[in-house]
Amino acid sequence: MAKGEPGDVCARTACDRKPAVGFNRSTGDWYCLSCSRRLNEENKEEAQRLWDGDLVIVGIVPFTKEPAFLDENGKFHCPCGASHSRGPLDPLSKVYRCLHCGKAYRVEGVVELR
Ligand SMILES: [Zn+2]
Ligand SMILES: [Zn+2]
Repeated sequence: MAKGEPGDVCARTACDRKPAVGFNRSTGDWYCLSCSRRLNEENKEEAQRLWDGDLVIVGIVPFTKEPAFLDENGKFHCPCGASHSRGPLDPLSKVYRCLHCGKAYRVEGVVELR
């Protein structure tokens, strides 16, 4: 069990839920769905100001430590900062390639987020 790693145990000390599906843009840790929602609720105004969105990005468990993820609209976001809406290179293994830096990431969707 690794705490705060993608797909593993939630980073919050008092929580042992799996899988961690939310990436905290401030700390780089990963949280379970319920803690992600709570953090987003608690930090709504600041996150809106800083990132024009949520503090914890929920929806995807990447297979790398780097925060490549898909947002709710299916848009791919690369750790290099680029984002695009092109689909996966390989729909079966869900491999996405960044159009900006060319690196490929495997990302897994999570259903029923809301
Ligand atoms: Zn949690
Ligand atoms: Zn990139």
